[in-house]
Amino acid sequence: MTIFKKLVVTTVAVTLTTKAILITSNDEWSDLSYHLTTALSIFQHPQQQKTRVVILGTGWAALSCLQKLDSRKVDVKIISPRSYFFYTPLLAGTATGTVCSTSIIEPIRWHLLRYGTNNFIQGECLGINFQKKFVQYSCGEGEGDEENGIHELPYDHLVIAVGAKPATFGIPGVEEHAIFMKEVENGIMVQHKILEILERANGLLMTGENEEKIKNLLHWVIIGGGPTGVELTAELNDFIRNDVHKYFPHLLPFIRVTLVEATGKILGMFDPKISSYAQSTLTKQGASVLCNSAVVKMTEDSIEIKKQSLGQGAPEVQFEKLNYGMVVWAGGITARPITQKIARLIGGEQISMDGRPIRGLLVGDKFQVKGVPSSPSPTAPGVGAGPCVWAIGDCALSGCPPTAQAAFQQGNYLGRMLRDTNFDPHMIAEYPSFTMTNYGAMAYLGASQGVAELKGMLWDRYPVTKEPNENTIVEGTGAFALWRSLYFSRLLSNRNKAQVIFDWFKASVFGRDISSPFVRSSPQLSPPSSLDGSAKKAADHTLKKD
Ligand code: FAD
Ligand code: NAD
Repeated sequence: MTIFKKLVVTTVAVTLTTKAILITSNDEWSDLSYHLTTALSIFQHPQQQKTRVVILGTGWAALSCLQKLDSRKVDVKIISPRSYFFYTPLLAGTATGTVCSTSIIEPIRWHLLRYGTNNFIQGECLGINFQKKFVQYSCGEGEGDEENGIHELPYDHLVIAVGAKPATFGIPGVEEHAIFMKEVENGIMVQHKILEILERANGLLMTGENEEKIKNLLHWVIIGGGPTGVELTAELNDFIRNDVHKYFPHLLPFIRVTLVEATGKILGMFDPKISSYAQSTLTKQGASVLCNSAVVKMTEDSIEIKKQSLGQGAPEVQFEKLNYGMVVWAGGITARPITQKIARLIGGEQISMDGRPIRGLLVGDKFQVKGVPSSPSPTAPGVGAGPCVWAIGDCALSGCPPTAQAAFQQGNYLGRMLRDTNFDPHMIAEYPSFTMTNYGAMAYLGASQGVAELKGMLWDRYPVTKEPNENTIVEGTGAFALWRSLYFSRLLSNRNKAQVIFDWFKASVFGRDISSPFVRSSPQLSPPSSLDGSAKKAADHTLKKD
């Protein structure tokens, strides 16, 4: 065999093996057989009327569901205020410029075109009429056929995948003063805020201003020691060590990062060993980690925390005030107003004992929303006899954790089930229930360190600390390498992959970008009207403080 032939054979073998690994890891073998069978049968049977499917949302759950539906049999329409899919795991990196925010978003229209349609409506679902089977939505003020600008979109099947919103637990001041860490614009706001603060502190120092004021301004507080808060703290530590150190060395003695956590440990969802490793790693890098410290109040420039010291006897409670220059809220998630409204419309078991809607929509073993009345569809015979309203992802209460991993698998499952059963209620009733494969969880800790808690046979081959019947735990640089490569490989498009790899390279070789497009003291500093409440408030807050 010539060298050329060997090269061709090797390339083909490597490509096929990689494809097979990807298909296996994405659990897509059954999709291949479906597409092969339908490709042959589609010519034999004339196509019946398409089933109208409306999907609410453009997040993990919505997109993975869309990708499994068969466009030849389904007329799918998507409604969402967000016209793009957004890769949440890399959001913390955008807050310091490790990754650009545009590198982790991709237009939903790309996916729709690949799917063979262009039916996306940028709008917000405001309600659902379950009897008449239509969704009410608005695309902005003053539009629409009706006086109040509300449109109606009929459906045969409805997939609710509206995600969740930050939970503030009604703590006074949080809505008004904190920046949340949930959407793309939140990452942008944190980045602009820290750049603005650094320049401002520099100005104050040069004019001989009171050092206490500078210290307070350079105190950045992150509330919530879950993975979101931990990863943001890690990114801020990296930014300070690599970039502030280079461009603002004179500010280093004043700068502080504090992570505040209500419970006794950070990363509470992980193994206790990981929690303590994460805490010591963040502390070694310069951040202060305050556990057993619940934020109870927030003002324009300070937070009040309730500290519990758990010694012998009754726990001692103290209150402490911390001044801050920037505060980010990463205290968890709760149901969006639309999810609560839907729960109220359904009533029954969707409402808790105290009369309030529960944290999400209660769903059955196949993600059918519990308590929705059946009503026959005028266009799809058989539809209405069984469930036709589904909820997946963070807005569903299914027993799965509110993670992208779970939302993606749920969307895949639902899309595949509706496709394979052709919406037939009898076949749906016999379809196997959903089971989630939990591959574990990972988090970045800064300074090229990470933690990973992995589950399943696949990981048993890694040289890691492991005791019988325990999850596999990887810590340090190995976990960081795993974190980067896994999250990189899960990016959906090649365009985003190229952008992210370039961003990482750029940040490590040339440093992060420390320029902000906002000009201080300019009316242009006002945030664009498209920003959501929290981001807008954060920007307004920046202005107010000026
Ligand atoms: P989302 O992805 O939130 O999508 C909801 C969609 O619904 C959006 O398009 C939204 O615009 C739309 N919508 C909202 N309201 C309406 C309405 N009224 N009408 C129509 N549409 C509406 N999970 C992991 O597994 N690994 C991680 O590393 C990880 N990192 C994360 C990092 C951060 C900073 C955050 C915030 C979350 C992270 N998660 C991670 C969790 C993960 O992002 C969520 O669990 C996941 O996004 C849930 O997917 P979803 O489709 O249910 O909701
Ligand atoms: P979370 O619910 O996991 O953590 C929120 C933390 O905030 C909790 O530890 C809670 O005790 C604390 N908290 C709440 N109120 C507080 C108060 N008043 N004062 C101080 N602390 C308070 O929320 P999250 O980190 O935003 O994560 C949300 C979801 O997204 C989770 O399911 C998580 O697994 C997932 N996620 C995963 C990753 C990852 O795997 N790398 C990254 C980010 C998010």
